[in-house]
Amino acid sequence: MKEKSLDRVDESEYDVVIAGSGAGGLLTALGLSEDGKRVLVLEKENHLGGVWYGYNVDGYRVDQGLHVITRAKRGPFSRFLRKYLRPPPEIVLHEGWYFRVNDRVGTIPSSVADGLRWPLTGMVGRLSLIRIGARIKMMKLREMRTYQHLTFIEYLRMKGVTNQTIMDVMESALYLAAGVPIEQASAYEALRTLKDTDKETPKIRSLKNLLFGSQDYDEGVAIGGMQGLVNRVVSAINGDYVLNAPVERITERESRVTGLTVRGKEIRNSKIVSNIPLWSLPNIIDSKRTEVTSFFQNWSHMRPTKGVTLWLGLDKVIIGDRKSRVIVHPTPSRWVLSLSSFDPSCAPDGKELVAIAMIFIEGKPIDEQVQMMKGNGLSTYHPGIVDHIDMEHVQVSYATRAALMPGQTALDRPGPRTPVAGLYIVGTDTAGEGVGLQQAANSAEGVLAALRSDN
Ligand SMILES: Cc1cc2nc3c(=O)[nH]c(=O)nc-3n(C[C@H](O)[C@H](O)[C@H](O)COP(=O)(O)OP(=O)(O)OC[C@H]3O[C@@H](n4cnc5c(N)ncnc54)[C@H](O)[C@@H]3O)c2cc1C
Repeated sequence: MKEKSLDRVDESEYDVVIAGSGAGGLLTALGLSEDGKRVLVLEKENHLGGVWYGYNVDGYRVDQGLHVITRAKRGPFSRFLRKYLRPPPEIVLHEGWYFRVNDRVGTIPSSVADGLRWPLTGMVGRLSLIRIGARIKMMKLREMRTYQHLTFIEYLRMKGVTNQTIMDVMESALYLAAGVPIEQASAYEALRTLKDTDKETPKIRSLKNLLFGSQDYDEGVAIGGMQGLVNRVVSAINGDYVLNAPVERITERESRVTGLTVRGKEIRNSKIVSNIPLWSLPNIIDSKRTEVTSFFQNWSHMRPTKGVTLWLGLDKVIIGDRKSRVIVHPTPSRWVLSLSSFDPSCAPDGKELVAIAMIFIEGKPIDEQVQMMKGNGLSTYHPGIVDHIDMEHVQVSYATRAALMPGQTALDRPGPRTPVAGLYIVGTDTAGEGVGLQQAANSAEGVLAALRSDN
C-alpha cells in the first residue's frame, strides 16, 4: 500500500474504501488484498495503525503500550497473520506470569497439584482457589453466558470466594483482558479468560487439564515490535492510503451507502468499511432513516479501557529475562516486562528496555501515577531499575474501544453489518471475542466473511 495525497485520489480505482487504519481496518484491508481487491484507506491521524504502532525515543524502540501477542500460537490474530503474511512474523514466547504479593511470588496454578503448593496463600486459601479453579476449568461456555449480566466480583461472592489475595491476583490477571477493575469486569469475559478458551472444550479434556495442567497458554513479543508488524501488514496490502484524512461524513441514499467525505472532498463507493470508533459515528453517518440513526446512537455509548505505560531505558541490563511480572502488592498492581530480553534490537547494545503498565487512575495527575509505578516496591523487588534510568517515556491512551464489562461483552456487539447496505463496521468495539488484537482480528474476519457473502 502506498501513501497518496487526497487531491490525487481517483475514486474509480478502488473496490472498497476503509475509513480508519486501526488494527481492524488494516487487517480487513489485508484480507481483501488476498481476495484480489484494491482498497483505499483513509486515516485521520498522521500515522497508520491507530493504537497499534510504535516509534523511537532516544535510541529505544517503544510500542504504543505494553503490547504482547496473546495466544501466540493458536489465537485469531496470529492465525490471521499466518494466513496472509509470508513468511509469518516471528514471535518470541514469554516464560509465564509471575505474581508478586509482597515478599511472595507465585504463578497461576495450572493443575490441582500446583494449587496445593500455591505460595501466595495458606492452605484454606489454596483449597478455595482449587475449588473455584476447578469450577471454571470444567465450566461450559453455555453456562458462562448465563453470567453475562454479572460483574466478576458478584460472581465470586456468589460462589463464596472471599480470600483477598485470590481476588487481588485475579484482578491483576484480568487487567489485560478487561482493562477495568474486578468490580466492573464482566463475569462472562473473566471466566472465558481464566479458562483460556473461546471454544467448548470436551469434558474429558477439561478434566485432564485440571488434574495435570495445560500447556496451551502461550504469549509473546513480536520481533520488530508493533511497528514492525504494522509495516509488514501495510506492505502486503493492495491499494493506497491517505493520512491526515478525517472522514467527516458517510452518506446513505435509498438504504445503500453511496460514499464519504474527507476534508470537503467526496469519494463515492458502494462498499465502505468503517473502523471509526462507534462513539464518533452518530456525528458522521448522514442518513434520513430513524432505523439508521438510532442504530448508531444505540451503539455509541461504549466505554473504552484506559492504560498508562511507562517506558524505561536502562543504561545496563537489570532484569534480563522473559518473565511477565505483576506486582500485585504493594498496590497499585503493575505489569513489568523487559522487552529487550525478547528483542534486543529495541534497545542500544548493553542497555535494557523495560515497560511498566497499569490501569489509568481517573482524576489523578499523570506525574503522580508515574511516581506510583516507580515506587511502591519496584526498587525493593527489582533493585537498580530506578538508579539506572537512561530514557523515560510515558504514554496514556485507550487500549481497547470497549471495556469488557456487562453490556459490552462479545455477546453485546453490533457488527459486522449495519442497517445501511454496503456499510460494514470493524474494530474492537464492533465485534469479536477475546481482547485487543485478537478481537480486532476476529472482527476483521467477520467483516471479510460478510463482504464475501454479500458479493
Ligand atoms: C496501551 C495499550 C496496550 C495494549 N496492549 C495490548 C496487548 O498486550 N495485546 C493485544 O492484543 N492488544 C493490546 N492492545 C490493544 C490493541 O492494540 C487494540 O485493541 C487494537 O489495536 C484496536 O484496534 P481497533 O481496530 O479497534 O482500532 P483503533 O486503534 O481504535 O483504530 C481506529 C482508527 O480509526 C481512526 N479514525 C478515527 N476516527 C476517524 C475518522 N473520522 N476518519 C478517519 N479515521 C478515523 C483512528 O485514528 C484510528 O487510526 C493495547 C493497546 C494499547 C493502547
